[in-house]
Amino acid sequence: MNKTTRVYLVGAGPGDSGLITVKGKRCLQRADVVLYDRLCNPALLGDVSPAAEQIYVGKNMGHHALPQEQINALLVEKAGEGKVVVRLKGGDPFVFGRGGEEIDTLAEAGIPFEVVPGVTAGFAAGAYAGIPLTHRDFTTSVTLVTGHVNTRKNAQRDIDWPALGRGHGTLVFYMGLTNIATICDELIRHGRAADTPMAVVSHASTPQQRTLIATLADAPQQVAQQGVTSPAVILVGDVVTLHERLDWFQRRLTPEATSAQPQPKASATTPQDDSARTNILIFTGNGKGKSTAAFGMALRAVGHGQRVRILQFMKNDPDVGELAALERLGVPLEQCGLGFVPKPEHPLYAAHRDAAEHGLARAEAAIFSGNHDLIILDEVCGSVARGLLDEHKVVDVLRRAPAPLTLVLTGRHAGPALIDLADTVSEIQPVKHAFEQGIPARKGVEF
Ligand code: SAH
Repeated sequence: MNKTTRVYLVGAGPGDSGLITVKGKRCLQRADVVLYDRLCNPALLGDVSPAAEQIYVGKNMGHHALPQEQINALLVEKAGEGKVVVRLKGGDPFVFGRGGEEIDTLAEAGIPFEVVPGVTAGFAAGAYAGIPLTHRDFTTSVTLVTGHVNTRKNAQRDIDWPALGRGHGTLVFYMGLTNIATICDELIRHGRAADTPMAVVSHASTPQQRTLIATLADAPQQVAQQGVTSPAVILVGDVVTLHERLDWFQRRLTPEATSAQPQPKASATTPQDDSARTNILIFTGNGKGKSTAAFGMALRAVGHGQRVRILQFMKNDPDVGELAALERLGVPLEQCGLGFVPKPEHPLYAAHRDAAEHGLARAEAAIFSGNHDLIILDEVCGSVARGLLDEHKVVDVLRRAPAPLTLVLTGRHAGPALIDLADTVSEIQPVKHAFEQGIPARKGVEF
């Protein structure tokens, strides 16, 4: 690794954390600062030194936690402090990743950088859905296209539908799910047969992967009916017919499932052997004692030599007694909140939401790191109830948790999907509370 390089623009790959390059992994291990996106598998952050700064820049289509200019500026700023900076981007940094713009700023500032390619989502979708993008019997070319069609300002860079319609090559559309009807219409209008096979591969290379097989004529309707969720790529061309024979990944995940069937609920977490299961407990309700019960479990687990980790959502309070106690026990406790959550219309609410999302990304990294036996997500239910986190996104992370792992969730108003997922749910009911009698919060009792 070059000593003068300050910034590494690294492709994280499409989803499976094993698909990052060896060089990309080394860069993460060396980094002083990591800036990462929403589409990067958070498990990759397990390679980053605990001393390094991790900055979630939460970029996905149409929603930027940090505007692009600020990301560019942050790269220059951190590199200027003499730090080794890794800018980790989903897939390949130069495929619909605005990687070019980010290093352009660096080039202008004279900061030495390197680009480490990654497996782009379209290639991963082909590989993991058993659809070779080129094949001697079908086609000799493949084209990567943005499906983000309606917002192009520059007409000259608009999609060349006549060229795409005329050819026979495989087409791979990124960011195309919401525009799938336009994509299919334009391709048919410009010469592709209405019965051209196509595949919509969502969450490629992850346990959530689904492949929907359709034709240009019926894909929009199928996508709506099946409720396909992003991220997804759309593969168009005769090579899609090979999926039926060559699919290996989904068949292995759910032997009984065929493509285009809705994903079986919690399939990855319902193995036969109960002792190897992920165990999920929830402490909810309006009474006092939810976090306290969770800390009790931490104590028990430490006593058995188990590796415990605690992430606190919403909280940001250095004075709580548990911080010092847990430190003595060697249990890392990380506060991911910003304190008292204002109403959604308050200007600071968005910052609280970003903090909660960052916390969820940290939780996901911890869950998949393989380094823990018990993970407590304190106040995660309350974060969902206050709209800081999407319940289904939390469920989605927890459902994939590798066994055997115990997860403890606390907070008021646990939502139905979380309750449904959990094995044990206790509701703590207030009978009376000292606070109502004017007794203030006390050390060792409330904090
Ligand atoms: N630089 C990235 C692409 C970023 S654009 C890359 O090379 O892969 C974001 C788009 O990538 C999404 O809208 C979706 O079309 C695609 N994508 C990213 N991850 C994906 C995944 N795991 N499965 C399917 N599509 C994915």
